[in-house]
Amino acid sequence: PIRVRFAPSPTGPLHIGGARSALFNYLLARRYGGQFIVRIEDTDLERSNKESEQNILESLRWLGIHWDEGIEMGGDHGPYRQTERLESYQKGVEQLLAQGHAYRCYCSEEELEAERQAFLAKGELPRYSGKCRTLQKEKEQEYVEEGRKAVIRFRVPEQGTIAVDDLVRGHVSFDCAGIGDYVIVKSDGIPTYNYAVVIDDASMEITHVIRGEEHLSNTPRQLLIYRALQLKEPRFAHVSLILGKDRSKMSKRHGSTSVVAYRSQGYLPEALINFLVLLGWSPEGEEEIFPLEELVRQFSLDRVAKNPAVFDLDKLNWLNGLYIRKTPVDRLVKMALPYLQEAGYIPVELTEDDHRKVTMMMEALQEKLAYVGQVQDYGALFFAETVTLENEEAKKILQEEQVPRLLESFLAKLEEDRDMEPAAIKKMLKEVNKETKISGKALFMPLRVALSGQQQGPDLPYLIALLGKEGVRNRLRQTTA
Ligand code: GLU
Repeated sequence: PIRVRFAPSPTGPLHIGGARSALFNYLLARRYGGQFIVRIEDTDLERSNKESEQNILESLRWLGIHWDEGIEMGGDHGPYRQTERLESYQKGVEQLLAQGHAYRCYCSEEELEAERQAFLAKGELPRYSGKCRTLQKEKEQEYVEEGRKAVIRFRVPEQGTIAVDDLVRGHVSFDCAGIGDYVIVKSDGIPTYNYAVVIDDASMEITHVIRGEEHLSNTPRQLLIYRALQLKEPRFAHVSLILGKDRSKMSKRHGSTSVVAYRSQGYLPEALINFLVLLGWSPEGEEEIFPLEELVRQFSLDRVAKNPAVFDLDKLNWLNGLYIRKTPVDRLVKMALPYLQEAGYIPVELTEDDHRKVTMMMEALQEKLAYVGQVQDYGALFFAETVTLENEEAKKILQEEQVPRLLESFLAKLEEDRDMEPAAIKKMLKEVNKETKISGKALFMPLRVALSGQQQGPDLPYLIALLGKEGVRNRLRQTTA
């Protein structure tokens, strides 16, 4: 059975690229009835923190990417946080040392920096020179007595190549000479990512490692460890980088990079999922709208592209808008309330009437919004006490000669005992049309301007219904006095 994992380092919030990796792993597991595991890679003690870990897990849950096994969930291969697994890394290190695949290195920071500079001066990529590879016992003793602390390095073969047979990128070959002996255990005894990841993936019986392309160059380092310890190798699939529309690496300039940022702007998780999957994967047909269940049926690694994915915020907004149109209004109301409360348009202690108004507002805006946070832009339109005409053109519209006749008819109908619901108001406007013979734009535009000060906006009957009789009279007094 397939076993895949998402193994974030908790050094910041879950970002778009991480969420996409998690999603691809999740979909592969679901599609083939396998297991999806979440493991926390926190061996970088300085940069790791609990807050990031919580952010990552909370973001995954919000997206609906649930795991079968792992952190906060348990399973047969735990614990699922690397700093709680430290003993499990020791045996392998001892074996590597005993077999000569690894050695202790006592070089100081300054010595390593001097080496680095020397490589750079020669125009070569910096790597460890191998100074401690053949350290004599006496010299080692001397270093220990000086109080130097050792790291443990993996001994990379001096010649030959090591190839990754990648499910996305195909056959990729790396020259051993360029790799340099890398650290597998730091001087404080904590293993590095490149070592711990191998022990964990092997002991958790991971079959497929799907992750970002930035890890492709780590893969030969990891493969060398698998081979030295004779562990079963997983298959690898490196998903391409995410670029901005201008083809530079995605950054804040192209849109928010963290998942929480989209959550707090009122994007729908299912729309974000749909967007994320298209960053690298493409469906067989033309259809681009996929609910999660459909993705589970269709997802496969052979339709994951090698070329970079382009992050297009306009496309996300378009997709999210489509999902908003299909979302039950109740849910949109729930999502909208905090934004309107935050901006002070409605009270924190909701009355039934507030709730009714927001429902009307969301019915009117469902066709317009790209994300729910935009309701704040419409708050004044629906809730403000005062209204001002937006420009000269708006003033002119209200000066047209048939306007007084129109408003008179409208106000008279408003005074009649009638339901202030959008459907009833639509009917009322028809009656105004019959009575005044004013129709179409000549009817709607002056009313819209008189009620909102603007020439554009959501469907008029909803605005009228929400304002109520008193609200309508109040606004008309201000704009047509
Ligand atoms: N901890 C690594 C990261 O967050 C995971 C890499 C991997 O999936 O092997 O980038």
